[in-house]
Amino acid sequence: MSASSSVKYIFVTGGVSSSLGKGIVAASLAKLLQARGYRVTIQKFDPYLNVDPGTLNPYEHGECYVTDDGAETDLDLGHYERFLNIPTSKSNNITTGRIYYNVITKEREGAFLGKTVQVVPHITDEIKRNFELLSSKDEYDIIITEIGGTVGDIESFPFLEAVRQFRWEKAPTDTLVIHLTLLPFLKAAGELKTKPTQHSVKMLSEAGIQPDILVCRSEHPIPTELRKKIALFCNVNVNSVIEATDAETIYDVPLLMKKEKLDERVLAKLKLAHKNEPDLDAWKNFLGKLKNPTRDVSITVVGKYVELPDAYKSIAEAFVHAGAENECKVKVKWISSEGINEENVETILKNSEGILVAPGFGSRGLEGKITAVRFARENKIPFFGICLGMQCAVIEFGRNVLGLKDANSLEINPATPNPVIDMMESQKKVTMKGGTMRLGAYPCEIQKGTKAYSIYGKSKISERHRHRYEFNNKYLDRYVKAGMLASGLNPDSGLVEIVELKDHPHFVGVQFHPELKSTALNPHPLFVKFVKAAIENSINKK
Ligand code: GLN
Repeated sequence: MSASSSVKYIFVTGGVSSSLGKGIVAASLAKLLQARGYRVTIQKFDPYLNVDPGTLNPYEHGECYVTDDGAETDLDLGHYERFLNIPTSKSNNITTGRIYYNVITKEREGAFLGKTVQVVPHITDEIKRNFELLSSKDEYDIIITEIGGTVGDIESFPFLEAVRQFRWEKAPTDTLVIHLTLLPFLKAAGELKTKPTQHSVKMLSEAGIQPDILVCRSEHPIPTELRKKIALFCNVNVNSVIEATDAETIYDVPLLMKKEKLDERVLAKLKLAHKNEPDLDAWKNFLGKLKNPTRDVSITVVGKYVELPDAYKSIAEAFVHAGAENECKVKVKWISSEGINEENVETILKNSEGILVAPGFGSRGLEGKITAVRFARENKIPFFGICLGMQCAVIEFGRNVLGLKDANSLEINPATPNPVIDMMESQKKVTMKGGTMRLGAYPCEIQKGTKAYSIYGKSKISERHRHRYEFNNKYLDRYVKAGMLASGLNPDSGLVEIVELKDHPHFVGVQFHPELKSTALNPHPLFVKFVKAAIENSINKK
């Protein structure tokens, strides 16, 4: 594959510590460059051996983010989409596992006959090929590649070696390395310390990579003298030492980076024209609404991975977007479904102005979710069920309205006589776990005159999926007669995509994941209208 020679490549590495927010810095820089008229995308290279994060427990790695083309990816891709408002794809997330898988598959096919297959050059060549995957179609001027992990990790070496070679092979103004580090503040000494940064830059230099720009995370502003010191010891220009202090929200970071002129430094080093000043009007408008709510509303999310905020990252962010759109602060309470039962449900949920039952897998906490659905349905509290949350709504309705006491999902009870949630036909022959669910974008046709139609304002939509089970259409007539409609169907298979209750102010369950398509500038209508319904509920209560 020959990549367009005009494409510029920016690599973002991290030093000193993990969790410094490389993804947010990369997304913020991309936002600024995009706002200047450049076509930008971001990809993430992860150092672990899973071929993709789809098989990882959310406790291990946070949410698994699904793209339109059905890739199960790192949650940072969600940030990229939420900031840039353009979709990512499977080429935007590559793991060490994927690289090795490709190389070993080629080896088995005989592509390297006679040769010893080695980390250098075979693995590094495959990494370099993947650096350029997104540049083949002339869709982008700039490709930002975030290298996961921290410099110095054993796993990172092949990636860093590939970056070194890639830079050497390209023209000096075609690549750039931004290194993100931490300046810890020592209370006792009353100062920010630069030594960890110096060490991590040194480690990067040992791998043959001299960073062009340092973005320094710090809890305090960095004085000029300290910037000079960092510049001197790390071999960068003093105006390439960028301060990144803690932001009020992640959506403030593009503006903070603009204040530090990160985008200008990047353009200068890549010899790119300063086309326009970044057009950030829509972004600032969003931030303005986000920061000046006129009221608040209390929404409870019932899930089972609630101890780890990253496990439901896209849902949390979709509430931020929908809140801003409604000029309302959404106060989300994360409640573990395992702790909910018939006796305590009222105490736990009575102050909720809206209840969302979260996606998930397996039986742990399922009965608590079903109890939460019943409480929302009977008390006419706005309800939103996503994927497993929708399936719980179907089970609850089956048990408590249709009188099918043993209604269940085959995932939970394979022996149930009333499998109102059935395994999809296409899943029955699946034996492998990785990448085998119904994944990615599928169309859905919405029936006119329904709540779903009023929410979307159109009948043809496309949403992203990640599931193996579905509504069992054998029961559909009974459900419809009793008041639970299937208001959205897949036009090809008839698979139920949306259910809603007639006799309820707002009760919507969806088999897909709308949270994955909500962005700062395009809040998802299902979240916007759910928040609106919760606001109306709270007004009516008073
Ligand atoms: N476990 C359910 C299924 O596979 C729901 C999946 C989900 O919530 N993402 O159908």
